[in-house]
Amino acid sequence: MAFIEIQRDEQSTNIHIQHKHLYLAIGIIVLFIAVGGGYFGYKYYLAHFYDSSTAKSELQDFNPPAPPSDIKKQIQQIEKQATVQPNNQIATSSSKINSATVSAIPLTGTISATLRVPIIMYHYVEYVQDKNDKLRIPLDTTPYTLENEIQTLIAAGYNFITNNDLADALDGKTNLPANPILLTFDDGYRDFYTDAYPILKKYHVRATNYVIAGFLNRPNHLLTNQLQEISNDGLVEIGAHTVNHVWLKGLPLKTVSDEVFQSREILEQLIHKPVTSFAYPFGAFDDQTLQVVKDAGFRSAVSTLPGVNQDQVNRFYMFRLRPGGRTGQDFLNYIKQN
Ligand SMILES: [Zn+2]
Repeated sequence: MAFIEIQRDEQSTNIHIQHKHLYLAIGIIVLFIAVGGGYFGYKYYLAHFYDSSTAKSELQDFNPPAPPSDIKKQIQQIEKQATVQPNNQIATSSSKINSATVSAIPLTGTISATLRVPIIMYHYVEYVQDKNDKLRIPLDTTPYTLENEIQTLIAAGYNFITNNDLADALDGKTNLPANPILLTFDDGYRDFYTDAYPILKKYHVRATNYVIAGFLNRPNHLLTNQLQEISNDGLVEIGAHTVNHVWLKGLPLKTVSDEVFQSREILEQLIHKPVTSFAYPFGAFDDQTLQVVKDAGFRSAVSTLPGVNQDQVNRFYMFRLRPGGRTGQDFLNYIKQN
């Protein structure tokens, strides 16, 4: 009898263990479904309902990251020499700085002089409907202000160029017009098409729009056909701004490469034109980022570091200025002071 009881005990233990495995398996499956559902639900939410995903993080643009320390030294040199030496001597010294300190920074084409080209940076251009939209308002320029600034620049004799013109000039392939200036619009927002683009067309002002390739067709971003129309018109150059608006500084090489290379490929497939200029989301970059952007075939890139002197040394982190709502003489003075 005792023997049978032991056997029964073993059986019930076995059954108990089998049940335990079953419960564990069910538990794991439920967990997978919950996590997976949550993940895809979040992605769906981002894609269809959440249209401030870039604006929130882009606020960091107002506290741009400090440039990498070796690049900081170069910038100081560019600024120092720009004030004390004639242009044709700057490039020679810059090329020395470049090869001596940062091998990762490419030096291509003919060495040209430092070119004084203010690059103005815009994000949203619209009348923000929600006065409590703390994400959008600080990044917004009203259409009225943009038109006012363009009128001011035209009256002051500025000539609007694109990044490709600037890269050509840096390579010694072309001369820039007198008083060149470059307008850039980041993120490829829908309001570029509805609010900014009509103003650019009205005054026949050329510009560059840095589009986040993976955000096209989101509620707040350009539709594919709008992007194609803008590109076909030829007034506005399309530049790349990663696939997912990613902080590229310090990321693994594979991620940086995917974001940079794919952003170019996606846009080129849509507009059937070379995409030659790149903008770093949040102005965040390091030596590795610069090298990847160059390897991806871009001719130049813009940062959020303030300044107006562009040359071979900083052609992959060209300086930009935020107009900050300035208009008229105040706007002109701000550009001239830099
Ligand atoms: Zn951006």
